[in-house]
Amino acid sequence: MLVVENLTKSFKGFRAVDGVSFRVEPGEIVGLLGPNGAGKTTTLRCITGILKPDTGRIQIGEYDLATQEQPAKRQLAFIPELPNPYELLTVREHLKLVAMCYDTLPIYEQHADELLQRYELADKANALAGTLSKGMKQKLAIVCALVHDAKVFLCDEPLMGIDPRGQYTFKSDLQRLRDTGCVILVSTHQLDTAERLCDRVIIMHKGRLLTEGTLSELQQRAQMDGSTLEEVFLRLTEESEQPHEPISAPLHTP
Ligand code: ADP
Ligand code: MG
Repeated sequence: MLVVENLTKSFKGFRAVDGVSFRVEPGEIVGLLGPNGAGKTTTLRCITGILKPDTGRIQIGEYDLATQEQPAKRQLAFIPELPNPYELLTVREHLKLVAMCYDTLPIYEQHADELLQRYELADKANALAGTLSKGMKQKLAIVCALVHDAKVFLCDEPLMGIDPRGQYTFKSDLQRLRDTGCVILVSTHQLDTAERLCDRVIIMHKGRLLTEGTLSELQQRAQMDGSTLEEVFLRLTEESEQPHEPISAPLHTP
């Protein structure tokens, strides 16, 4: 499981994440939604340990990130917002490096070949990462996340720039991982995808957790039965801009 308790992170006095708490259980895909600047990436970067929170507790599986950093991180795979591969390592060398870091070299060969085939990177296996297209770099970040048998997957807008077949493959892989009991937290702006893929969503706004739940729970909260996740999201985030508007006010359509 993944537990985030009272997470706060400021940058020079500006609170990017403000007292956020949630948990994701094994066997769940949870969408992390919110407008630009809501604090999604900062939250994910705190969970990976890249950023040090000001306050709060993060538990990954049974391990506390602050006091049991190594075993906690060992369970994690992170697909960052902007793929940033080592320009002078080949695609295959990236996978080998990740497998070495996570002590999974014995299963690496078979895993790597399968993944490269599945994400249509096999013909680039020996190409330097610096020569890949943007979408291929994103796919490389995905295969690196999938190669080392993680239990908790943090994905920051993972579908950006990926071709339709790659998107389909990744969504299928996330569902398969979910069904084997992995914890999956995915930030995305593709609300139609989130509606189909996620068991539950968390909506952040201005650093805070605005609401969380299944689509039908959110529909009830917004008094919008039968509406899409996109419509409910627009209503809830608009209302939190204008706290005095009644919750049943009509949605402004563009
Ligand atoms: P999201 O991923 O939801 O779009 P972010 O977590 O990237 O949002 O950013 C939340 C807020 O924190 C934004 O206002 C952003 O400008 C600010 N922020 C993020 N990282 C930094 C940083 N390293 N230094 C200063 N401000 C930052
Ligand atoms: Mg972001």
